Amino acid sequence: MRVLIVSDIHGNLPALEAVLRDSDAAGEIDAVWCLGDTVGYGPQPSECIARLESLGAVWVAGNHERAVTGAMGTEEFNPNAAAAARWTAKMLSDSEKTRLDALPEVVKQDGVTLVHGTLRDPLWEYLYSEEAALGHLALQETSLGLVGHTHIPMVAVQQPGRSNDCRMNRVQDGQSVQAGASEKLVFNPGSVGQPRDGDPRASYAVYDTEAQAITLHRVEYEVEVTQKLMEEARLPRWLIERLSVGR
Ligand code: ZN
Repeated sequence: MRVLIVSDIHGNLPALEAVLRDSDAAGEIDAVWCLGDTVGYGPQPSECIARLESLGAVWVAGNHERAVTGAMGTEEFNPNAAAAARWTAKMLSDSEKTRLDALPEVVKQDGVTLVHGTLRDPLWEYLYSEEAALGHLALQETSLGLVGHTHIPMVAVQQPGRSNDCRMNRVQDGQSVQAGASEKLVFNPGSVGQPRDGDPRASYAVYDTEAQAITLHRVEYEVEVTQKLMEEARLPRWLIERLSVGR
């Protein structure tokens, strides 16, 4: 089975469509797993929700899904994120919000754990440090886990018998990570709709369940199309500009 792993789409439909085309061109996709933050920041939240639904995606909630429905306040958001969350809240229908509110925070799918932040704090904690990775891995019951939220492709690996120690590395375009070879591993596919590692291309991963290999991919998309829609929606200037530079 080939599983497409996407995260942090953030209402950026051109980026999502580019990822779907690119992943499909390399071979049939059998399932789609989404690690949250499908809405917020970008100009096409409803379209991204509908696209994921049409793919039958397995989907966990991110902090942005919770913020746009009002299930969580935006006090912890920076002013740009809060403004975008208010705009998104106005765009979504009641039935779309009901759908988002029903999303679980943690899912175990085919022996893999899916969560937006970390298992210590599913909606909020960023898995940036080895300390956070160790905290997460201590709670991860499966050998493979997937997280999003940081918008940076990364892997943290724990070797057998080394529960106080893990190695954390960035993952580059085309790089494959072998699951099943270590005691526990947590992988972040980066962000489809708002990359923050200095590479503006959309980021995603494909998990080959037979080979137990996860491969990271980057693909160009029409950034200007998304930016033009954001300008028309009068979304904050910094949110528009950052897409050009991947920060
Ligand atoms: Zn996000």
